[in-house]
Amino acid sequence: GATLGVLGGGQLGRMFVHAAQSMGYYTAVLDPDPHSPAGRVSHHHIQTAYNDHEGLARLVQLCDAITTEFENVPAQVLEALAQRRRVAPAAAAVAVAQDRAAEKAHFVRCGVPCAPHALIASAQDCSAPAHAALLPGILKTARLGYDGKGQARVHTLPELAAAWQALGGVPCVLEQLLPLDFECSVIVARGSDGQCVHLPPQRNLHRDGILAVTEVHAQNMPPALMQQALEAAISIANGLAYVGVLCVEFFVLQGGRLVVNEIAPRPHNSGHYSLDACDVSQFELQVRTLAGLPLTPPRLHSAAVMLNLLGDLWFTRGEAAQTPPWAALLALPGTHLHLYGKAQPRRGRKMGHLTVTAATPEAARAAALQAAALLGIDPF
Ligand code: ATP
Ligand code: MG
Ligand code: MG
Repeated sequence: GATLGVLGGGQLGRMFVHAAQSMGYYTAVLDPDPHSPAGRVSHHHIQTAYNDHEGLARLVQLCDAITTEFENVPAQVLEALAQRRRVAPAAAAVAVAQDRAAEKAHFVRCGVPCAPHALIASAQDCSAPAHAALLPGILKTARLGYDGKGQARVHTLPELAAAWQALGGVPCVLEQLLPLDFECSVIVARGSDGQCVHLPPQRNLHRDGILAVTEVHAQNMPPALMQQALEAAISIANGLAYVGVLCVEFFVLQGGRLVVNEIAPRPHNSGHYSLDACDVSQFELQVRTLAGLPLTPPRLHSAAVMLNLLGDLWFTRGEAAQTPPWAALLALPGTHLHLYGKAQPRRGRKMGHLTVTAATPEAARAAALQAAALLGIDPF
C-alpha cells in the first residue's frame, strides 16, 4: 500500500494519521520527540529534527506523498522534498503563511481587506511619526508566533520601541487594534486541478490569544457575511495556487465589516468539530488532497460546539494534576471526547478537545453549557 508522510508529530499530525490509516494508507511521521502524539500512532516514526538529512532521506524513501502539520517547517525542506516526492502544500504557499509581512502582502494582492499595518524592522521604524496612526495596536513578530505568543499591545510610540526590543528586535508587523464584534474562520481544501471545497464557516471565541470555543451551524452568522468569508477564503487559496487544506481566520468588526486576520497552511483547531459534525472531516480532506483523490463538498449533519481542553483543566482542583471528570462529560448526549495523548498537562497546552453535537444549535449550546459547568470553565 501507499504511505503518506507528515512533518510534525503534534495533535494535527495525529488526527491526519488517524484519517490516513482509516482510508488504508500507511503513515510516516517525522518528529524528534519520541512521545509525540502523532509518532505514537503512526506506522513509522522518524525521530529526527526537521532539517536532518538522514531523517528527510528516510521520509522520502518511505513515502509516496508528504504534507506538513505545522507551518514553521523551513520552506527549503519542503522544496528539497518536492524534488523527489509529491508535497502539498507547496513550499511557496507555506513560506507566505510563515511570514506575517508576506501574508499581508498576499491579502492586499488578492483584494481582501486586512488590518491597517506597517513593518517594524528597526529602531527608526518604532519612532516613525506615521506609525502613530496605527495606535493603539498589536505588535506581532513576523515569524514563529502562535496562540498569541510573540505579541504585545502598544499604545504609544515609546511603548512600541520597548515592545519591539522585548520581542527580540526581530522583524515585526504592527497592526491597528480593531474593534471586533466576533471572529470566524473558513477551511478550504483545494486540489491540484484547482477544485475547491470548504467546511461551513466557524464562529470562534479566543481567550488570552488561544482558541477556546468554536460554534458551527447554518445560522451562526449573517448569510451575506458567510458568503463573503467563503469567497475571500477561496480567492486567497486560488491566489496561492494552493494544494491542500488551508484555514483563513477573519475578524468581523463592529458594524459588520469582514477583515482577514491570518492563514494557516494546514488543518486548524477551529475545524476539529468536522470530525464529529461533518460527513467529511478536515483531516480526510487533507488526505484526499495529498493523495490526489476527488474532493466532495463536506456536509454539516449536526450543529456543533467545540470546547478546547487546555492543560489548565487538570489544575482546577489544586496543585497536583488531576484528570478532569471525563465519565460525567460522556454521560451527556452528543459529547465526543478527543485526547491527544500528551503525557504532561501544562497550563495553556492543548491537551484535547470536546465536540458537542446536536440536532439544533440551541441543544448543542445547552449541552456545551452543561459540559463547561462540569469542567468548571466559562463557555461563551
Ligand atoms: P494562532 O494560534 O491562531 O496562530 P496567533 O498567535 O497567530 O494565533 P493572531 O491570530 O494574530 O495570533 O491573534 C490572536 C488573537 O488576538 C486573535 O484571534 C484576536 O482575538 C486578537 N487580535 C489579533 N490581532 C488583532 C487586531 N488587529 N485587532 C484586534 N484583535 C486582534
Ligand atoms: Mg497564527
Ligand atoms: Mg490566529
